[in-house]
Amino acid sequence: MLIASALLATVLAATPADLTPIECKACPGWNKPRAPFLLHGRSWYVGTEGLSAVLVDTGDGLVLIDGALPQSAPLIAANVRSLGFALEDVRWILNSHPHYDHAGGIAALQRMSGARVASTARGAQALKLGNAPHDDPQVGYGPQANAFPPVAEVTVLADGDTLALGTVTLTMHATPGHTPGGSTWTWRSCDAGDCRDLVYADSITAVSAPGFRFSDDAARTAEFRATLARMGALDCDLVVSAHPGPPRLFEKAAARDAGADEPAFFDSQSCRDYAAFGSQWLDQRLAEEATRTD
Ligand SMILES: [Zn+2]
Repeated sequence: MLIASALLATVLAATPADLTPIECKACPGWNKPRAPFLLHGRSWYVGTEGLSAVLVDTGDGLVLIDGALPQSAPLIAANVRSLGFALEDVRWILNSHPHYDHAGGIAALQRMSGARVASTARGAQALKLGNAPHDDPQVGYGPQANAFPPVAEVTVLADGDTLALGTVTLTMHATPGHTPGGSTWTWRSCDAGDCRDLVYADSITAVSAPGFRFSDDAARTAEFRATLARMGALDCDLVVSAHPGPPRLFEKAAARDAGADEPAFFDSQSCRDYAAFGSQWLDQRLAEEATRTD
C-alpha cells in the first residue's frame, strides 16, 4: 500500500501542473480525440470532438488558435505532429476567449512549443490571472470556479490589429459579449488561386452564472448586439466556432469528404447564420430575464 502510494505520488509529481485535467460534466465528451482535417489551403482543424483548435501554416511558422482544456493539449499537439509539423514551429497561439474550455490548454501548449500568446487587453488580463475577469457573466461559475492554468506572458493586440507571417495575415476582431475579453480571428486562405475567407469565431452565447442578468446593464447588451452585428457582417466563406457544433462543421466536412454537395462546405452566409443563432439566444435570454421573479 505504501509502495502504491509512493508510486502514485511519483506519477502525480511527473504531471506538469498545466496538464492537470479540469473535471466537468461535459469535459469527457468535449475532449474525445478527433483526427485533424483540412479546412482549406494550409489551414486545418486540430481540435477535439467538442472544442475547436485550428492550425495555420503561414510558410514562415505556424499559428495555433485556441488550446481547449489542459487535458486537450496533448491531443492538439499529437494532431499537429500527425500533420507532419513540429510543435516547436508554432510561433503564435491565439485565443478566442479566456474560459477554461478554450484557454485551459494554452499554458501547456505554450510551454511545449515556445510560442508567443496573443489576445485582447481584457483577454490578456484573464489569461495571466488564469480565470475569467471579474465582470464576466460566468465569473466564479463552472469547474474550479472557472480557473485554468495561467499564461505568464501575453502580447496584447487591439481590435483590427493584424498578425502577418509568411503568406498569411490574420486579423483580430474584439468580440465582447459572451466574455468581455473575447475575440474572433479572420484570414484569407489561398490555394493555387482559390481564395477563401476563413473565420475562427468566438462563442456568442449569452450564458452566465446563476443570478446574473444581462438586462441589468444596457451598455453590456448593446455591446453584445454590436458584436453580433459585426460577426454577421464579416467576409466569411467558412466559420469555425470555438465549440464546433453550431455551424455544423463536422457534418459539412463529412459531406465534402464523401463527395456530396450538401451541406456546402463553403458558404458565404455562414457568419450571418452563426450571428443569427447568437441573436436568437440573446433575445430568448432577455425575454426569460424579464419574466424572472427573483
Ligand atoms: Zn466560454
